[in-house]
Amino acid sequence: MNPITEALFNRNAYLQHCEACVLEIPPEGVVLDRTVFYPLGGGQPGDTGVLRGKHGREWAVIDTRKGEGGRILHVLAPGTEPPAPGDVVNAELDWTRRHAHMRMHTCLHLLGSVLRYGVTGGQVGADKGRLDFDTQAEIDKDRVTAEVNALIAANHPVEPRWVDEAELDRQPELVRTMSVQPPRGAGRIRLLDIAGVDLQPCGGTHVAATGEIGPVVVTKVESKGKRNKRVVVAFA
Ligand SMILES: [Zn+2]
Repeated sequence: MNPITEALFNRNAYLQHCEACVLEIPPEGVVLDRTVFYPLGGGQPGDTGVLRGKHGREWAVIDTRKGEGGRILHVLAPGTEPPAPGDVVNAELDWTRRHAHMRMHTCLHLLGSVLRYGVTGGQVGADKGRLDFDTQAEIDKDRVTAEVNALIAANHPVEPRWVDEAELDRQPELVRTMSVQPPRGAGRIRLLDIAGVDLQPCGGTHVAATGEIGPVVVTKVESKGKRNKRVVVAFA
């Protein structure tokens, strides 16, 4: 079954706005038939921005969340009078913030390819991001900074692609090259492919080539428990 809200960012993360129809107004937010707004998930924050209606009406979107049944909820500021079902709006992202998320999210894929330990958590921000690794190994900030920046400078292409489980079974080498095992039972799996560098299941938004990330620096390596290292990276 098709989700109720068509997630336009899955195919093209660079769409900054779209025209859409208001389907429902549950208390949690505005449900549109299609959207460019990414909902909180996979360590990436939900998008913010604005819905513009007829006659100059505007609704600020302060967050975006996943709802039931493939709904994407555009969260309005408390006390805001929402648009009505059937209204046509133009949904426009806070692009500066989202593009920073795309750059940092892609950077974390590179960090995970440099530090090939199990990842136990992560968080994308607009100025920095972090990954938690299941390891006791010493991590050299300067070495990791240099290796990640070299991957950025090499400007590797970054592409989402979709595979089904049968295809994964036919191509076991695909799974072997992934840093994370794909979820099973979900049907089609969205993979993020940084050619020759990293391949893993991911539903987030990314830049089209690593050069777009710009220079970064590993600012902190912290021990979080016995077998956990938290590595923080920021835009330089
Ligand atoms: Zn990703």
